[in-house]
Amino acid sequence: MSAAGQELVVRVDRTRCVGTGACTWTAPEDLELGPDGRARPLRPVSDDRPGLTEAAEMCPVEAITVLSAASGEVVAPL
Ligand code: SF4
Repeated sequence: MSAAGQELVVRVDRTRCVGTGACTWTAPEDLELGPDGRARPLRPVSDDRPGLTEAAEMCPVEAITVLSAASGEVVAPL
């Protein structure tokens, strides 16, 4: 699903993250691995980038949720 033009909020369930790092390659502006080896968001509000929703879709443990900043609606994964 396209999220064109929206401001987005990314959340990471760090209790689920297994530290593959895949999301940090797909969405390097928005996600990084923290010192504990688990992903964390880099900014409170993100602009619309295909890589961000892709990261949420591809996370093997569904630890990433991308929401519309305006409505709170889940944009990815769907
Ligand atoms: S893709 Fe998922 S499991 Fe892998 S580092 Fe990112 S949040 Fe963690």
